[in-house]
Amino acid sequence: MEHQKRIVEKDAPCKKDDLIVITGAGGFIAGNLALSFKKKGFTRIRVVDKKPLYEWYLRVPGVESLCLDVSEAANCRRVCEGAVEVYNLAADMGGMGFIERFRVECLRSILINTNMVEAAYQAGARRYFFASSACAYNTLLQQDPKVRALKETDAYPAMAERGYGWEKLISEMFCEEYWHERGMKTAIARFHNVYGPHGTWDGGREKAPAALCRKVIEAIATGKKDITIWGNGEQTRSFCYIDDCVKGIDMIMHCDKLIATPINLGSSELVSINTLLTKVEKIAGVKMNRHYDLNAPQGVAGRNSDNTFIQKILHWEPNTKLDKGLEATYTWISEQYQRRKAGQRVGIG
Ligand code: NAD
Repeated sequence: MEHQKRIVEKDAPCKKDDLIVITGAGGFIAGNLALSFKKKGFTRIRVVDKKPLYEWYLRVPGVESLCLDVSEAANCRRVCEGAVEVYNLAADMGGMGFIERFRVECLRSILINTNMVEAAYQAGARRYFFASSACAYNTLLQQDPKVRALKETDAYPAMAERGYGWEKLISEMFCEEYWHERGMKTAIARFHNVYGPHGTWDGGREKAPAALCRKVIEAIATGKKDITIWGNGEQTRSFCYIDDCVKGIDMIMHCDKLIATPINLGSSELVSINTLLTKVEKIAGVKMNRHYDLNAPQGVAGRNSDNTFIQKILHWEPNTKLDKGLEATYTWISEQYQRRKAGQRVGIG
């Protein structure tokens, strides 16, 4: 089959009435991304998710919201029709508990990117964004809680996280080759643990910050101040606040120096899970009785984002302090918890 390489020209900045397509928008990051484009004045935004609309975290008024499965090629063609920019954030994913247990589901997300990138190319989209992950990095470099932060070159030689990480790595490669072979401008960001309001906080797919906030809120509500931490709590991570993530996506997508070049999008403020809990306790004004489940899923021992490259190219890095972001997250989950208790419907994952 013959595919023509496009003639690549310097593209004009996106106009406010150019069509922007965002997948996974019933979820956490894509929902917030759609909201930010709306606030910037874009008038034609098409968002899609396979979840029924009433389960979306954020329903942004005035955007075209579709409920479709984008692992199917025909749906991807429908979704990309007329698109100038495409942001693919749909994936079957969750915290460690989910990605260690459901590797097949994670791997099957390969269908989403494979069909979306092709549909975007066929539709003549100018730019295509893919949400990759720090899980694409070689796990052998992450066996000590006092990790050296991961830089972009650490993905190869490859030994990604089983399932989820390998799907991200191969999808990155698709994006790289759609640029090199076919001339569609692609952008690839490796997210590191994004957290904040309007994200998964219950149901099994939630990540550590939301899970700890919920467990503390539950403990306060029930008077049972016991908490179980997965592992010994000494595993380390960095956490990127949602506003920084959304800002970073926009900057990375529109930077010509970053075409088809994976880049870290994460905070470099490294903390242990024990310290994370101490921070949540401080916000909530409680002290919990800590128990440790050494058989629970824990992922790698340590992971941090080396931000040398993003600093060099964008002169910026995610910089919201964890204390500040956690406070906003705790407040939002607390509200969701109260709403659910009062019998109102809330999105959880
Ligand atoms: P999320 O689970 O909140 O959102 C993903 C959304 O994709 C969900 O609403 C889900 O219903 C939807 N989806 C899944 N399969 C679909 C399909 N076949 N068709 C249509 N919709 C489908 O996750 P998130 O935290 O917002 O993550 C967004 C992206 O960022 C994902 O690609 C994820 O792998 C990546 N990422 C997230 C993090 C993080 O810390 N949140 C870290 C690294 C990478």
